[in-house]
Amino acid sequence: MGIRKGAWKGLMFQRTLQQMADQSLTRRLRVLESATGPVVQFSNRQVILLCSNDYLGLATHHAVIKAAVQATEQYGSGAGASRLICGTLPPHQKLESFLAEFKGTESALLFGSGYLANLGIIPSLIARKGLILLDRLCHASLIDGCRLSGADFRVFRHRDSAHVESLLKRRSPNRPVLIVTDGLFSMDGDLAPLPELAALATRYDATLYVDDAHGTGVMGPTGRGTIEELGVEHEIRFHIGTLGKALGSCGAYAVGPREMIDYLVNTVRPFIFTTAPPPGTAAAAIAALDVIQREPERRARLWANRHHLFHGLERLGFRMTATVSPILPILIGDAKQTLIFAEQLLMHGVYAPAIRPPTVPGETSRIRVTVTSEHTISQLDEALRAFELAGRASNLI
Ligand SMILES: *Cc1c(COP(=O)(O)O)cnc(C)c1O
Repeated sequence: MGIRKGAWKGLMFQRTLQQMADQSLTRRLRVLESATGPVVQFSNRQVILLCSNDYLGLATHHAVIKAAVQATEQYGSGAGASRLICGTLPPHQKLESFLAEFKGTESALLFGSGYLANLGIIPSLIARKGLILLDRLCHASLIDGCRLSGADFRVFRHRDSAHVESLLKRRSPNRPVLIVTDGLFSMDGDLAPLPELAALATRYDATLYVDDAHGTGVMGPTGRGTIEELGVEHEIRFHIGTLGKALGSCGAYAVGPREMIDYLVNTVRPFIFTTAPPPGTAAAAIAALDVIQREPERRARLWANRHHLFHGLERLGFRMTATVSPILPILIGDAKQTLIFAEQLLMHGVYAPAIRPPTVPGETSRIRVTVTSEHTISQLDEALRAFELAGRASNLI
């Protein structure tokens, strides 16, 4: 759906939008009329929210908000310049050292968002003559980073390390290879086979690039993420993650060896040529990391809620992905049917919108349900009743 010459003419806009509408693929912005949380104000009423990535409720945690307010009062609402000019303030530096400590790496570097991090870091790590191997279900920002690098890329079957190995065997000698994967897949809720991929990277002298946007704060005994969960922290010394999901703030980070981080500071264009994140968001992320370590009961509640909702949905007979996380996708397939189901859900008091192509592959439209530590069991039971009614009305169960 590239914008062709003359696309600025209204007619072209209209035609494209009509084509999207014909396939039930148009999207529109909808306003949440309250702070995010287990129950929110939406469409002029109270609904149970089951689509936020604020898995631990930290976006509205009093200590996180207080840290953001204090840093804003002390350092201003904006950083005023890029990091390398005069935009590096104490909260940025403190957050980077906290992240490195939390992840057990030498260094860390902040980015404005996960999208920007992937767009910038991948082209810095692999040159045009390199080869990228990419999981079929990687996040759009990873795909775009690969495209921008100009390197050839091959897509491997989802979570299929044997497929990765066969592609590695066929590469020409000495060609640099980057293996790219989500840690926890954002739309399916399953995990990358990181031990196998790390071993392949070592054996074939490739670099492994893991984006753990959804794993951070959620996976692993102490919330350090999917790499901790799968026991490969010694093998995987570099990865990226985001601050806008379980950490309740905004932005992203890379963590790894000091030399590598210094290299990124000097080469990643979406790091160099952009205004530093506001000090308040950095301070919020610092407080969130602190809460994650001091309130492990939040993660315990998250997992208890996850199991309750997952088994309830399974019992109702919905078709789910092979998820092992608080991301609980209900597979529907057809985009239009998914939209209808989402409307039914909303009518019964649950907000979880339809996820359609190009976010997911064609004919795999779904409702991506996410649960948080802050939902109560009675809210989840109420939600399950809504799923049952909406599922019956849409002939899904
Ligand atoms: C959400 C997500 C991103 C984007 O991060 P933002 O900080 O929201 O831009 C990147 N990668 C993955 C795997 C994600 O799920």
